[in-house]
Amino acid sequence: MCQRKASFPVVSRSPQHEVIIIGGGLVGFVLALALEKYTGRKVPVYERSATMLPYVGAGLVLQQNGLKVLQNIDETLYEAILQASSAFTERTWERHDVTVVAVAPESNSRGIQRWRLQNLLYEAACRNEIKVHWGKELIKVVSQSSSEYVRVHFADGTQTTTSWLMASDGVKSKVRRTVAPDVEWHYSGWMSFMGISHVESSKLRMPSSLTTKCHATFFPTGDLKSCF
Ligand SMILES: Cc1cc2nc3c(=O)[nH]c(=O)nc-3n(C[C@H](O)[C@H](O)[C@H](O)COP(=O)(O)OP(=O)(O)OC[C@H]3O[C@@H](n4cnc5c(N)ncnc54)[C@H](O)[C@@H]3O)c2cc1C
Repeated sequence: MCQRKASFPVVSRSPQHEVIIIGGGLVGFVLALALEKYTGRKVPVYERSATMLPYVGAGLVLQQNGLKVLQNIDETLYEAILQASSAFTERTWERHDVTVVAVAPESNSRGIQRWRLQNLLYEAACRNEIKVHWGKELIKVVSQSSSEYVRVHFADGTQTTTSWLMASDGVKSKVRRTVAPDVEWHYSGWMSFMGISHVESSKLRMPSSLTTKCHATFFPTGDLKSCF
């Protein structure tokens, strides 16, 4: 989130928007819904993708606190998430040869495919009349001391102005690069890949290899599928 002063000749004293959200991923939609619920503001969301795409991303585990937040924000959304996800009954820690090391009962945790969750959040945004602008990739934020707002430039050549810009444009955030240009990435040396398979399961499994130091996680995501 940043609030900056604009760096261009001021043509209008008031911005087009009081607040905007950049990025229509999981955080962007939850943020827009929460702002609507708790402040009554319908904050527009600007998303880079041209449209909502199915099958993007793998799976997520939603745990008790996160589910409670979603339920507080929108009961209809919460019910839809329960329908589209799978509950776990237990969590197991295993060796790579599937020997079980430990078992814990699991309650109120659910697995869901990422695109399904994003789609349900988008549908909730539409129900709440939150405007979503697709195909809007932020490329630049310009600010200067002579104004109380920032100007946001999109890749399609359009612009808008806002007093508050809330950034939820993901791990490679362009907004963050504007606000903190000196912050650099460092590769941690760890790598992970994820996918969805047609395997039914009712528990979250975490096999670990002592020899390779590789770890895996498997959990159900609804529709008789599992995330690995
Ligand atoms: C391997 C892995 C496993 C994970 N597992 C879990 C889990 O089990 N449970 C859990 O809660 N979390 C999990 N997470 C974390 C979770 O995925 C992230 O916290 C979450 O996706 C972050 O949401 P976000 O909206 O910030 O970013 P994203 O979901 O990445 O969304 C960012 C959005 O911004 C858009 N965007 C990007 N750049 C621009 C731009 N310049 N202009 C406009 N739009 C832009 C993108 O198109 C995208 O739609 C996992 C993450 C990883 C990597």
